[in-house]
Amino acid sequence: MIDLGNPEIAFTVMAVRQATLLVKQVQSEMVSAALTKADHSPVTVADFAAQALVAHLLEQEFPEDLLVAEEDAGSLRPQSGGDGSTLQQVTEFVSRAAGRVDPLTVCEWIDRGAAPPVGRFWALDPIDGTKGFLRGDQYAVALALVVDGEVQVGGLGCPNLAFSPDIMDGKHSPSLKPDMDGPGIVVISALGQGTWATLLNRPGAFAQLSVSACNRAFEARLLRSFESGHTNVDQIEDFSRRIGLQAEPVRMDSQAKYAVLASGGGELLLRLLSPEKPDYREKIWDHAAGALMLKEAGGQITDLAGKPLDFTVGRTLAKNRGILASNRLLHQAALQALKQSAS
Ligand code: AMP
Ligand code: MG
Repeated sequence: MIDLGNPEIAFTVMAVRQATLLVKQVQSEMVSAALTKADHSPVTVADFAAQALVAHLLEQEFPEDLLVAEEDAGSLRPQSGGDGSTLQQVTEFVSRAAGRVDPLTVCEWIDRGAAPPVGRFWALDPIDGTKGFLRGDQYAVALALVVDGEVQVGGLGCPNLAFSPDIMDGKHSPSLKPDMDGPGIVVISALGQGTWATLLNRPGAFAQLSVSACNRAFEARLLRSFESGHTNVDQIEDFSRRIGLQAEPVRMDSQAKYAVLASGGGELLLRLLSPEKPDYREKIWDHAAGALMLKEAGGQITDLAGKPLDFTVGRTLAKNRGILASNRLLHQAALQALKQSAS
């Protein structure tokens, strides 16, 4: 069992859980009306509120620690020229979770996330998969502790994943699958301690996750971004043909893909470079938690050339291109197929 008495592990479970519940609240109160207008305000409110909450919780628990997070409060602040209504909404939601707080303090909490990613720091994506959040699909709250480039603890809140089968008897290693109506899942991993999952609404019993034992490419399931602009669809097709996949790729937003892969719900995860953005560099908060989770469940993760991910070079994975993640057994075959499909 993972050591829930460890302060960093306990903090990660608590912070991810509270932030995910807050984001769910924003979604249930704001998304349906806004969706029809294709308005991004709910995701903005939820992003900022979750980041403010985690920053505040971190300041209470580990006041010396650095936070490296996706958002900043620049566009929220009164002097930015807006009417202040977004900041008002963010403040209302944060106050529900953290007790009454004023708007300027909320901005200060959010801006704690601008720390440099050096030494020991926490990487936060308050909502990973913003497009999935707006579409009513997968999204995740992602938090990881990185020390000198090594991910030590990783947590994901996945409101739209569920255990499959739906039992927690300690004998079976359950996999995770999409479920838009269930309570959701929190996944936690720590270096050397495996990957574990529990229910978002009733944390208590944890089930250990492990990757699929499938070593036959023709039976493998490939996970890819839902958004075609985040990958290269033609190259995925070519790759799939070369390695011999029979099933259609599964489209899914966010690091929920890593949770599914770590639980044996798939064998391969590809993040190819979009032809429109060949110079795109992955953000550290999009992969830190998921990468540890997958490795601790027995999987493997590299970039598209087979290089390990390097978390020591700033807010992006500047030394890596794209991502290949797998159940380990199919990693070499996938790298080989990638080499051929790229040439
Ligand atoms: P996913 O849902 O797996 O597609 O991942 C969502 C993440 O993709 C977001 O958090 C963004 O940081 C990231 N992203 C945005 N643009 C791109 C791009 N052109 N290529 C790859 N990832 C991107
Ligand atoms: Mg993200």
